[in-house]
Parts: sequence; C-alpha cells; structure tokens
Amino acid sequence: MPELPEVEVIKRGLAANISGRRVATLQVLEARSFPNYDDAVCEQLENSLVGGLGRRGKVLLIELSSQSGQQLVLMVHLRMTGQLVFRNQESGAATCLPFANATAAAEVSGVPGTAPCPPPAEVSGVPGTAPCPPPAGVAACPSPPADTSSENFSGGFPSASLIGTLPDKSTRVIINFTDSARLYFNDQRKFGYLKLLAADQLANDAFLSQMGPEPLDEGFDWRCLSQCLRLKATRPSARAVKAALLDQSLIAGIGNIYADESLFWARIDPRRPLASLTVPEVKRLCAAIQESLQQSIADGGSTARNYVDALGLRGEFLDLHAAVYGRADQPCPRCGRPIAKIRVAGRGTHYCPRCQK
Ligand SMILES: [Zn+2]
Repeated sequence: MPELPEVEVIKRGLAANISGRRVATLQVLEARSFPNYDDAVCEQLENSLVGGLGRRGKVLLIELSSQSGQQLVLMVHLRMTGQLVFRNQESGAATCLPFANATAAAEVSGVPGTAPCPPPAEVSGVPGTAPCPPPAGVAACPSPPADTSSENFSGGFPSASLIGTLPDKSTRVIINFTDSARLYFNDQRKFGYLKLLAADQLANDAFLSQMGPEPLDEGFDWRCLSQCLRLKATRPSARAVKAALLDQSLIAGIGNIYADESLFWARIDPRRPLASLTVPEVKRLCAAIQESLQQSIADGGSTARNYVDALGLRGEFLDLHAAVYGRADQPCPRCGRPIAKIRVAGRGTHYCPRCQK
C-alpha cells in the first residue's frame, strides 16, 4: 500500500495534468470501486471543473467545482493495487521516458538504482543530510502545460496497465475530460475506491474524521507527536511504538516502510512500549519521521511493491536512502552489524538490534 510520500508524489504529478480540466462524463465499470456513485453523483461530476489536488494521510483528494458551483471532493483510496493513469491522447506517446522506466519498475528486481548518490551522511543521525543530486524523478522531468501536453502520466501499483491499452480488465472507473483526455482508475484487487463528497462534508467523513494529524503539517513537532501517541495520558499505553506509528487514527500516512526507517534513525527498538519513551526519544522520533517522509518525497517515493510515481518513474527512496527497510542481513549503516527482521504488530519489521534500544 502506498504511504504518505507515494501518494504525495502522485498528487503532485497528477495535479500538473488534471487541474483546470473539465469532466465530460464518467464511466463506472465496477460498482464496488465507487460505492456512493448514483445519478446525483453522476450529475454533480459531469461538467465539473478540476481544481487543486490534496492529500490526507494515504488518501488523494481531487477538488472539483460542479456546474452549479458546488465545491466537491473526489477521494481516491489506492489501497493495494490501485492506479491512476492519465492519458492525454489515447495514441499519445510518452516523451519523458516514463513508461520505459515503469516497465522496468514493474519487473523490479531489487537491484539498486544506478544513480551515484552517496549513502546519507550521519550528521544529524537522520537521513537526508547527504548532498544528494536531485533525483531523476518528477523534478527532472518538467511537466508540460496541461493544455498542450502530449504525454501520459501514471502512478500507483505497477502493472502492464500503466502503459498498456486502456481500458483493460483492471479498469474500474474512467473519467472522460471534455478535451478527450482521460483519467483511468485501475485496481486489480478492487480494495481501492473512489468516493464523492461535498467539500464541506469532508471533515465529517467517517474515514477521514478518525484520522490522526499529518506529520508534515506546519507546526507539527515533538509535542504534537507526544500527544498523538498519548504519552501524557495517565496510563500511557504498553503498546509497541511501531504498532502505534502504523495506527492511522493516531498519526496519518505512516506505513511499514517509514515506521521502520523512523525508528532506526531515532534509535528506538520497534517493540518498545509507548509508555517507556523518553522526551529525547520522542524528539528524535519526530525529526526522523519528518526527515524520512520528506526525503522519500524528494526521491519520488519508494519502490516497495513496485510503486511508481505519477510520471511512471520509479521512486528511488529505497535504493538511495532506506537504512533498514528491506535490508535484512545487510550491514547496519551505523554500526555494520546485520539488520534483523522480526515481526511486530503482525508486520515484517527491520531494525538494528545493536543501535536500536
Ligand atoms: Zn546498527
């Protein structure tokens, strides 16, 4: 499942292409993929204008204005195998190399990327301090203006559907824009879904309203994290810190990759009970969460489960900056001892038994 950085990268890539486009019609090929779709929703969406794109945790939010001026938000949950594929013209060839790379990513081999980027220098004890060149991701591939683009953009679970003829058997929803561009929502396993809401109802949505704060929000600091994890409660939880980081109702957007990475840089054993965390540890953890997420966004996300970004380029975070995730038995970047893989909260967990206490 994509985590915060992957969805953020898709958001930024798609925004350059669909903001300002007008929806012509909608085709819902699989009812389960758009559970609140009905005639009223159809009417609201048709002729609506795409505004900005947002994100809440791992959920993408597409803002729309209906023809009658109503402000709407189309929520997109990619979940396990969701994809968003923007095709400007059905025959339009990608000129920014995205699809060659997407194909490579779809057959991902775990072979590290070729970018000659040094491992992160351990200046502050958290990633992101190395003077890396900009990743060959979104930033290196300028987005053309939406109205003249002849390129296709895609993000999400890499499969042949990112580059093949669409619709295909994984296509669940098609948004047709007035200029014949299309946005496809593909989802092999049908765990993802779209949902249309009035913008003023967003805060009341059952899923979004139970979500914890955004760790990259302005002003989010260690005190906020302490509150998220309820460390000041009369009886702080004996729950493992990793389990808490994965709990979207406590803090939004962190999944298995960034929980492991953050705990490594904060030098905290993922099994530690929340109640045992000290203030210096919470400060380190907060900095590590934010720097890991930001580094990954800068790298174009991760390639775990073969994720690719909105341009179809593979994210490079795991190749360039991941210290422990997916690196069982490889040397710890801090002490050189082998990284261990254990299970915490039912999830495969990577950590350094020597550095993380
Ligand atoms: Zn170590």
